[in-house]
Amino acid sequence: LLHLSRVRKTFDGLNAVDTIDLTVREGEFFTIVGPSGSGKTTLLRMLAGMDRPTAGDIVLRGVSISSLPPNKRPTCLVFQSLALFPHKSVGQNIEFPLKMRKVGAEARRERAEELMRMVRLPESYYAKNVMKCSGGERQRVALARAFAYDPEILLFDEPLSAIDYKLRKTLEKELKDLHRQSGKTFIYITHSLEEAMVMSDRIGVMQAGKLVQVGTPEEIYMRPTNRFVGEFMGETN
Ligand code: ATP
Repeated sequence: LLHLSRVRKTFDGLNAVDTIDLTVREGEFFTIVGPSGSGKTTLLRMLAGMDRPTAGDIVLRGVSISSLPPNKRPTCLVFQSLALFPHKSVGQNIEFPLKMRKVGAEARRERAEELMRMVRLPESYYAKNVMKCSGGERQRVALARAFAYDPEILLFDEPLSAIDYKLRKTLEKELKDLHRQSGKTFIYITHSLEEAMVMSDRIGVMQAGKLVQVGTPEEIYMRPTNRFVGEFMGETN
């Protein structure tokens, strides 16, 4: 579905992302994990079409997305709770992408309610202001809105990092269920290898801009080939 070939991004002579080759399969839950500063966000921004690679190419279904102008962003999307419209209701936030596509009011509302059920937001929240929602609820609104765009690939940038442990565990499970139900391709970044292990079909480990290992959680667990993973396993065993 998505091919990266020799993708590199240089800032002031430093390779934030250093010559990455990767193929993500359709319907896969692919997680990119790595310590802070390893280049995860830089890579995701390029996948979202928000930044162009310095070198290399990113191809989605045979179309190069790195050469698309910013106003023709690809079907990918970055899910960030902070990007919600603060003065609007839950319903208005979720319906925003549908409104952009000129979907009629009735159909919009129907789809919004369906998406709210999917992310387990009570129906009564439709008219509630997003600023009056809790952190976890806002994550759900952001998720529902991401689905309203109906992208081919959903991109997640550490969506659970600011959430307390118990709620994080619940949301991890819900995200995994949503992935299964929707059949969409998820690309998820986190610095938490634990989160990556629980949710992913495959994991790519980044270190200093390079993709140092790609494999299933089992493969990464059984044969950690780099220190970040090795040390993490040492801590949890
Ligand atoms: P974190 O987990 O802390 O978010 P990360 O793995 O997402 O880290 P990136 O944000 O991709 O890491 O940063 C990778 C490297 O690129 C860092 O050394 C960072 O300082 C550098 N970098 C990122 N964006 C820019 C920029 N716009 N200008 C200059 N340097 C940048």
